Amino acid sequence: MTVLNIDRVTCDGRGMCAELLPELLELDDWGYPIVRSADVPPALMDHARRAIEACPVLAFRLYEDPTAASRVTPRAAPPPIRPPATGR
Ligand code: SF4
Repeated sequence: MTVLNIDRVTCDGRGMCAELLPELLELDDWGYPIVRSADVPPALMDHARRAIEACPVLAFRLYEDPTAASRVTPRAAPPPIRPPATGR
């Protein structure tokens, strides 16, 4: 299972992730993302990867281990899934 996690300390609330993944995210009144569902279904993985690429501060992450996203601080977290290089 793949889960999404947002580092709330790093996130600056520009909301790009919610625009790219509205099925799982919405924005609060200040433009910060609210996670409706952290589980990323396979059909939304491409959208989730685009959200990772679009996050200007690398606060949006995906984890294969569902316990990893909630158990640790960003410094101690296991490496998140990185989207493949697009060559842009
Ligand atoms: S794209 Fe990144 S910085 Fe912007 S709201 Fe989403 S997680 Fe926060």
